[in-house]
Amino acid sequence: MKSVLLFGVLVVLEFVGPSAVLGQAEPAVEPRLEAAVFDVAAETRAYLDRLTPEQKERSDAYFEGGYWLQLWGLLYTLGVSWLLLGTGLSARLRDIAVRFGRWKPLQTVLYLVQYLVIATALFFPLTYYQGFVREHEYGLATQSFGPWFSEQMLALAVSMVLLSILLIPLYAVLRRAPRTWWIWGSLIGVLFLIFGILIAPVYVDPLFNTYVLLEDPEVKEPILSMARASGIETDRVYQFDASRQTHRISANVSGFAGTMAIRLNDNLLERCSLPEIEAVMAHEIGHYALNHIYESILFLAVVLVIGFLFIHLTFDRVVRRWGERWRVSGIGDLAGLPLLTALLSLYFFVATPFLNTYIRVNEAEADLFGLHAAGQPDGFAEVALKLGEYRKLDPGPIEEWIFYDHPSGRARIEMAMQWKAEHLDE
Ligand SMILES: [Zn+2]
Repeated sequence: MKSVLLFGVLVVLEFVGPSAVLGQAEPAVEPRLEAAVFDVAAETRAYLDRLTPEQKERSDAYFEGGYWLQLWGLLYTLGVSWLLLGTGLSARLRDIAVRFGRWKPLQTVLYLVQYLVIATALFFPLTYYQGFVREHEYGLATQSFGPWFSEQMLALAVSMVLLSILLIPLYAVLRRAPRTWWIWGSLIGVLFLIFGILIAPVYVDPLFNTYVLLEDPEVKEPILSMARASGIETDRVYQFDASRQTHRISANVSGFAGTMAIRLNDNLLERCSLPEIEAVMAHEIGHYALNHIYESILFLAVVLVIGFLFIHLTFDRVVRRWGERWRVSGIGDLAGLPLLTALLSLYFFVATPFLNTYIRVNEAEADLFGLHAAGQPDGFAEVALKLGEYRKLDPGPIEEWIFYDHPSGRARIEMAMQWKAEHLDE
């Protein structure tokens, strides 16, 4: 309301000001009058009101269910870890791994493989409910059980390979530097993260989806034009068949300088108009242009140092109290991996609001960049509304701070309408 009044005053000043004296009042004033009529709050509300109360209720229920799943996920992890330690199973798995020889990397891999198989089996009820039953209940998933299950097995195999690459050097450090491991461990964690960002688009993602070059020039050219204008040198846009797994729309800009690739999924192509696609891709280009990948690596390095320091300060205490019963001798003992996992999960659970806020701020930056780059505020608002299928549109401020890793639909539509209000005369 206030902004409307302010606009009114500006229009009046303009009208009786210099332009009136020059006798050009009418053409100069017209766009401003239009701006005065454009009510950001009302336009935002009009978008939000397009969802029926039933649709809104469904979307809220799905998203709020996710809050509880985060808590259940933590409790489940603590339970599984306690089971593995308390029954002495973890110590037995280590004994088996050690029987195969003195070579430490082999012991690490053998322990890890057994651990992952058992943990995955114990987690299955939660994974099945969260990843299959619930997704189907809300009409988001497209896969039948068979293909879904074989993808879970594929993911397990990928985890075995990738976690081996992480844990072999990490346990070498844990054994050799029990006091300062949290510093070297963080360094290994960050190097692993960079390695993951480099190889995932090339070796991991194609295991789950097929990536092909986007040919349609009507879609490709506007995306490449925005990319060039934002300093991204590429002549390729990839599309992938996410509809194999889900109805969700998504896109990303992945990799570093050399491996950089713009990728969008087929749901986005099928379900969205060109202005909407441009709005989404401008946002993704924004992540790249604003160096969010590099910033996030730096941020996660700090998060890891604090997390590993927390484990360093707590692990030995727990082992002093329970170690004998669990047959875990210290941080360098492979049998202690469930405890390491439990403490790390606890840390990331507590850190969730801070991690979410960091990501959400980056996302809002990319949103703003995208609005400037694409100039499609309505396309952007339409997509924000579509994402409202599974992300609660209008949360309270504390709720948004704790749980949202992207701005809420309301915040995004509001930003787009504000941008539109200020660009009406273009
Ligand atoms: Zn984003």
